Amino acid sequence: MTRAVAVELFRIRLPLRSPFRTARSTTTHKDALLVRVVTSDGEGWGEVGAEPSPCYAPDTLDTARLILRDELVPRVLAGAGLDDVRGHHPARAAITTALLDARLRAEGTSLAAYLGATSRYVSAGVAIGRLGDRDALVADAAAYAAQGYRSLKVKIAPGADVEEIGAVRRELGAEVTLQVDANGSYSLADADRLAALDDLGVACLEQPLAPDALLDHAALATRLRTPIGLDESIVSANAAHDAVAVGACAVVSIKSALVGGIDAARRTHDVCFAANVAARAGGMLETGVGRAVLVALAALPGFTIPGDCSASDRYFDEDVTEPFELDDGRIRVPAGPGIGVTPRAEVLARCTIARERWRAGR
Ligand code: MG
Repeated sequence: MTRAVAVELFRIRLPLRSPFRTARSTTTHKDALLVRVVTSDGEGWGEVGAEPSPCYAPDTLDTARLILRDELVPRVLAGAGLDDVRGHHPARAAITTALLDARLRAEGTSLAAYLGATSRYVSAGVAIGRLGDRDALVADAAAYAAQGYRSLKVKIAPGADVEEIGAVRRELGAEVTLQVDANGSYSLADADRLAALDDLGVACLEQPLAPDALLDHAALATRLRTPIGLDESIVSANAAHDAVAVGACAVVSIKSALVGGIDAARRTHDVCFAANVAARAGGMLETGVGRAVLVALAALPGFTIPGDCSASDRYFDEDVTEPFELDDGRIRVPAGPGIGVTPRAEVLARCTIARERWRAGR
């Protein structure tokens, strides 16, 4: 049986090509935490899908680091399971992904094949965070469409929504798939305002209300024609099951970091697939390590709405792994063993700002 003999954490920082502004935060640099697991078979990599601040989700890079250091890494190095640990999904997702990656690399199996995904390409999608700057938003949207993106997701918030989306729609015409993401910044009292999106051909209104407001989302859904998607609310396969059961959403955004790992993401996909509810693969401004997982998941058949699968150059001049590239509006699913990409040593050395390592038996 594969045993982990060492675990290493790399806190890295990559400059973003442009600031990313949502209803709840602005990001100018990508801070990430990469997990490298060394096993008796080889090495594997995972990325903690969290931000430095708790403004998107409760877990942060620092809380993930602590739970890895104090709870998850000791269990993994002792050969124990993680089933007795509750929550801390981004940390759990990162270390279990690294373990799975090591195993699949040793077996010569790609993550997509492990998942049962057969698509060689996924539809690319790009998220635009330009809240409060309509000219920059429209210019970004036109530039991404010119690059070949056929699906755009625009961040919205109260006061920066209907007029902005209307301007993007006029600029791009009817052909481009438009989604919007409110990051929980509205309340049910805004229903009439949000209903104005119905005339703009929006494919998905993501997370209009607070993450725990399932019943209000269900009430909102009765007042809109625009399909409601949930993202922050989907913290497990059970959460997706409940959201679908109460009619809170017609689209489920699935993030392995939020649900606690690749297998949990697969189960969440299966819940949606069985209920005939569209899934979309949600992104976290990942480096190439997390992006490889995102793209492999998105190749599953239930992901029928374009997700946040962007090329690496949407965010970074230089990604930590070999870059993901746009190919006729699509992204190629990595076919190599494991997640199919590996951090490049020289880039990793340049962008690492802190590093910790633990070994079994110490
Ligand atoms: Mg979102």
